[in-house]
Amino acid sequence: MEGTESLKQKILIVDDSPTNLMMLSESLQADYELLVTTSGESALDKVASNPPNLILLDIVMPGMDGYEVCRRLKENKETRNIPIIFITAKCTEEDEVKGLILGAVDYISKPFRLPIVKARVRTHLELKRKSDILENISNRDGLTGLYNWRQFDTVVGNEWKLATRGGRPLSIILLDLDYFKLYNDNYGHLSGDECLKAVAHVLSKALERASDFAARYGGEEFVVVLPDTALDKAFLMAEKIRKEIEDLKIEHKYSPVSPYVTVSVGVVSTIPPQKTDYRMLLELADNALYEAKKSGRNRVRHQQCQAGNNSIGQPHNQ
Ligand code: GH3
Ligand code: MG
Ligand code: MG
Repeated sequence: MEGTESLKQKILIVDDSPTNLMMLSESLQADYELLVTTSGESALDKVASNPPNLILLDIVMPGMDGYEVCRRLKENKETRNIPIIFITAKCTEEDEVKGLILGAVDYISKPFRLPIVKARVRTHLELKRKSDILENISNRDGLTGLYNWRQFDTVVGNEWKLATRGGRPLSIILLDLDYFKLYNDNYGHLSGDECLKAVAHVLSKALERASDFAARYGGEEFVVVLPDTALDKAFLMAEKIRKEIEDLKIEHKYSPVSPYVTVSVGVVSTIPPQKTDYRMLLELADNALYEAKKSGRNRVRHQQCQAGNNSIGQPHNQ
């Protein structure tokens, strides 16, 4: 049936023995899409280019061994959550403990029994599927599909630490819809929801780098985190977002500032001073947003935050 293939979960099997690869493949190929490889190095390449849902990993291989492959995958935040099952002839208690401590979800000793391998694979794929669903529910905003406040908090906390350690700039864009209560009151809550989705879409399209991050911060407030980005660049992105939202031309006859839905935007940037936390940056972004509202809405106000100098600036081009 068309499309069925791509719905199969993907398993990467890593083993230097062709016999093992063949036995495992034969037993799993009816139910899963399989990727196979015979070395640790190529396993890492395959995971990077085509991430599987689960990995069956041999330990003793020429070149990079399975422990090292596991260690590297667990170090990388893109691959850390892929479940790994070791399947190996190394079967002392010590070997097994080492594998599990490295983060493998299971450990199967050779010679393996195929029905048991199959059963364990199924169990771990099912657990992973459920934990992905839960993670999605807890990190995402149900209406817009953007990340939610909780995930923002985690991400900005981490980025703040990285920026502090590296002496790198970190910028935040905070935006709030203008006269959105009037929009809801006149066009209805469902139209309001559609409007929030359209704004979220503009934000997710505006992100340029893998580390750029957008979230729905509150009801009609959104936030963008831009690691390694100084104020001038963050300002340009904020202005682009503001304009793109205006250009959606979502009718808002009741807004005193425009015939269309608009946003006010606060931008702040800093190389984080030592011994502070990111809440300071948020507070300053909130101040800049307040200034944008007070000075007429549908505009961007920005602020460079340096130790002892936190003045809110006029936009460069207004
Ligand atoms: P301002 O320009 O000063 O920001 O005015 P405002 O009317 O946008 O601000 P206010 O905070 O008074 O109102 C925000 C409105 O956002 C009120 C609430 O009904 C609406 N809102 C918040 N969350 C949602 C949501 O999930 N869906 C919809 N449709 N409306 C929402
Ligand atoms: Mg608001
Ligand atoms: Mg508002």
